[in-house]
Amino acid sequence: MQLQEILYSQGFGTRRVCAGLVQQGWVAVREPTVAAAEYEYRPCTDATSDYDPEGLVLRVQGVDWPYHAKAYVLLNKPAGTECSQKPSTYPSIYTLLPAPLRQRPTKSAVQGVQAVGRLDQDTTGMLLLSDDGQFIHRMSSPKKHVPKVYQVTTKHPVDGAQVTQLLAGVVLDDDPKPVRAAGCEVVGSHRLDLTLTEGKYHQVKRMLAAVGNRVEGLHRSRVGGMDLPADLAPGAWRWLGEDEMQLLT
Ligand code: URA
Repeated sequence: MQLQEILYSQGFGTRRVCAGLVQQGWVAVREPTVAAAEYEYRPCTDATSDYDPEGLVLRVQGVDWPYHAKAYVLLNKPAGTECSQKPSTYPSIYTLLPAPLRQRPTKSAVQGVQAVGRLDQDTTGMLLLSDDGQFIHRMSSPKKHVPKVYQVTTKHPVDGAQVTQLLAGVVLDDDPKPVRAAGCEVVGSHRLDLTLTEGKYHQVKRMLAAVGNRVEGLHRSRVGGMDLPADLAPGAWRWLGEDEMQLLT
């Protein structure tokens, strides 16, 4: 694959911009065939020269960029951010991502990675983003029942009757069919760990309101079989590893 095409596929701009980056000496490559200890970046000024993109690490304007055919990333969403490209009040979560992730060309009209579902502006924690439509569908479809764990802090003390109701099912205002928590563990007088397998609008907040309580704090700590890594600071993102991808579904 031509270097210009590789850069383009990774979101570094139009083909013309990518060719310019190479020609002006802004791009070096680290090829996977060289033993790890001997890795060296080779400056490249020919946009049309061919590379095997798999395992290739680009260095673009001094920043390392490992090639990914598809992007699967994890963001630790901070409070006070909106999961929208066009936020109404708070900054968009997309501003926390580097430009290439936001600009990756896709087959759809929308460029770049998209959030897998949405979290409210005041909700923190685990948010997946990808440019793979099938992955997004698989992870967010209610039919797939991917469990998500929410650490809920409540305004009023949690009691046994509330837990029983949340597990048995509560009726929300937009659907007569009850929604139930797949798990509900009391971890403090005002703390619950709630597991949901669907993702209705404001679901946790509405479920807690339906049992006479109120959400004061909400943090998503787990999706599928993967916990939010403790070393990923609020506002930080990273690529998902293959082993983590296995844990998610
Ligand atoms: N449920 C909510 O009420 N808010 C979220 O952000 C996620 C789940």
